[in-house]
Amino acid sequence: MNCDSPSEWIEKLPLLQKVVDREEVLWCNPSIEKVTSGLAKASVSDAEVADASERLKRFASYLAAVFPDTAKSHGIIESPITSIPKMKKVLETKYATAIAGKLLVKQDNALPISGSIKARGGIYEVLKHAESLASQHHLLNTMKDYSQFANPACKKLFSTYKIAVGSTGNLGLSIGIMSAKLGFNVTVHMSADAKQWKKDLLRSKGVEVVEYLDDYSKAVEEGRRQAATDPTCHFVDDENSKDLFMGYAVAGARVAEQLREQQIKVDADHPLFVYLPCGVGGGPGGVAFGLKLAFGDHVHCLFAEPTHSPCMMIGMMTGLHDQVSVADFGLDNRTIADGLAVGTASAFVGRIMEPLLTGCYTIEDQTLFNLLKNLADSENIWLEPSALAGMTGPIHAIQANLVEANSPQATHIVWATGGNMVPVEEMQSYYEAGI
Ligand SMILES: *Cc1c(COP(=O)(O)O)cnc(C)c1O
Repeated sequence: MNCDSPSEWIEKLPLLQKVVDREEVLWCNPSIEKVTSGLAKASVSDAEVADASERLKRFASYLAAVFPDTAKSHGIIESPITSIPKMKKVLETKYATAIAGKLLVKQDNALPISGSIKARGGIYEVLKHAESLASQHHLLNTMKDYSQFANPACKKLFSTYKIAVGSTGNLGLSIGIMSAKLGFNVTVHMSADAKQWKKDLLRSKGVEVVEYLDDYSKAVEEGRRQAATDPTCHFVDDENSKDLFMGYAVAGARVAEQLREQQIKVDADHPLFVYLPCGVGGGPGGVAFGLKLAFGDHVHCLFAEPTHSPCMMIGMMTGLHDQVSVADFGLDNRTIADGLAVGTASAFVGRIMEPLLTGCYTIEDQTLFNLLKNLADSENIWLEPSALAGMTGPIHAIQANLVEANSPQATHIVWATGGNMVPVEEMQSYYEAGI
C-alpha cells in the first residue's frame, strides 16, 4: 500500500473503521456522475458490447449442438428473472423494513453449462479466442455456420493450443468446461479456498488442475507467470480482461428485453436497483456497465462483498484500486463465499465503475447462510452462499433512503450469481448452517 497508512485513511474516511471492525456497512459513492459523462470516461465502449453480443449469436448454433442444456434457448446462454414475493415478506419481517416496490431475482444460478455468472464472461472469452484462431488458420471462410466448430479440423487445431486461468472455482469451471469441449489443452490454477468437488469435476473433463496453498491473487499470479513463457498459451486474466468484461456486459440489453416482456417499466418514475455480488469485479462490473448502457440514469447498481473481503469497497473509497488489499486494513480475506474471496480488486474495473457505481455494501458469512435457508424455504430457489450477497441490497438502499428506493414503483433485482453446479450434499450442509 502506498501513500497514507491505514490509520490516516480511517481518519479521512471514518466509515473505514467499521469496515476494519467487519461490520455490515453501506458506502455511497460520492464520485457517481450522470451516465453520459460516466460512460464517456470508460476505457470500453458500447460498440464493443454490441460486437460481443453479435459474436455470441454467431456461436449459438455451436453451443446448441454441443451443450444440450442450451438447446431450448437456441444456444443463447441466459437465465430467467423471477419474482420472489414470499422472500420479500421474509426480508420485510426480518429487517423490519417495508419493500414497497417489486423484488426480483436474476437467476444466474440456473445459467446453462456452468451454473454461475461465469458462464457469461468465461465462455465468451474462450469462444472469442477460438474464433480468432480459426480465422488465422483460414478455417472460418469454409464454414457453413459455427456449429462446425465441433468438427475434427477445429478440434485438431485447438489441441495444439493452450488456455490457462487462475480462479477461486467458478471461473475455472466455466473456462475449463468450454475450453475442453472445443479441444484446447486447459489448465486451471486453483486457490486454496476452491472446493474439492470443483477440482474433481474439472479433472473428470480432462482439465489439468494445479492447486495452491495460497489465495486467489497467488493462483492468478502463478498462472499468468507460467502462461507468459508459452506463446501457444492464452491466459484468461480475471483481473484485467476486457473480453471477460464484454461477455458480462451483454447481459444489460438482455435484461432490458426480459423486463419489457414482463411489462416492468424502467424510467424516471420507475427506478431500477440492481444488487451484484462482487469478487475481483469483472462480473458485477461488466453487468453494471451493460445495465448503464441499457437504462442510463434510471438504473442504480450496488456491489455486495463479504465483511472479510471488501476489496472493491476499499479500492474505490481510497481510489487506490489494486494498490491496496484488504490485508492492509488487517482483514483476513477468509469467507465461505468462495466466489467473493478476493483481497485485491481489479483496477481496470474499479476505474470504469468510479463514475457509474451507486455504492457498495458488506455482508457477513452467517447472513449469507441464513438467507440461503430463507430463500430455499420460501421460494425453493437454491443458491450458493456467494450468490445471496445481493439479498440485503434492497434493505440497505431503502434504509439509507437512496434515490427513490422506497418508491412503490421501484424494481429491485437481486443478482443470484451461482448455485446449480453445487452437489446436493454440499448444498445441504450450507442449508443446515442457516438459522
Ligand atoms: C465470480 C463470482 C462472483 C463475482 O464475480 P467477480 O468477477 O469475481 O467480481 C459472484 N458470485 C459468484 C457465485 C461467483 O462465482
